Amino acid sequence: MNKWRHIKQIIFDADDTLWENNIYYVQATTDFIDLVESGGFVRSDIQKAFDDLEVRVVEERGYGSHNFIYILEELFRVFNKKSKTRLDEERLRFITRRFQEHPVSIPQLFPGVIDTLRYLKTKYALYVLTKGDYAEQQGKILRAGVHECVKEYFILPEKNDVAYRDLLQKNNWIPSETCMVGNSPKSDINPSLRQGMYAVHIPYRDTWKLDDEPIEARDGRFLELQNFAALQMVF
Ligand SMILES: [Mg+2]
Repeated sequence: MNKWRHIKQIIFDADDTLWENNIYYVQATTDFIDLVESGGFVRSDIQKAFDDLEVRVVEERGYGSHNFIYILEELFRVFNKKSKTRLDEERLRFITRRFQEHPVSIPQLFPGVIDTLRYLKTKYALYVLTKGDYAEQQGKILRAGVHECVKEYFILPEKNDVAYRDLLQKNNWIPSETCMVGNSPKSDINPSLRQGMYAVHIPYRDTWKLDDEPIEARDGRFLELQNFAALQMVF
């Protein structure tokens, strides 16, 4: 594992890498589909309508929990109009209220995250790179206590090739001395490998489908680990 020791800075994704995030979206989506199904609609049709609108909303409005709520409310209106019986609006309120609690509560960190960051901090410069709504992501970083373990955190609207290139340039980081750690092949692993960086993939059981794609593994610069604490064996 010595070939990873020349790394100088390690950048961490946040959602579903440091803490649980997508489970709240999955739960709210499932509850929502149950609700609309009770109006006599077919699950796969509801799911399709959801997926189509989600792609459009992410493109037009970006990420963040308020955009997700917008999708649920918009779809509720659409299906309610087509439904022979009125859909349960109280139930919709319950689903959205419960979902909205997650971005303002303390993030549920994965086992060993803080200990691992504290260990790595003694040897490397650590950073967090996340995408989404600035205030929401910042709030999670601060409440999780992760800011105390890293030199700086970056919150961007998107994590693509341009974002990684700019980050490297602005900070004068040499790509081959920089490693990205994350759960998303699309946002964390592939774009950083394309910039010449190293990358560690920590798969999450339920990575959001808009964040998933096959990994374009580069020899020697890519590693997959089963959990966060295992980083201590590499670095
Ligand atoms: Mg993630």
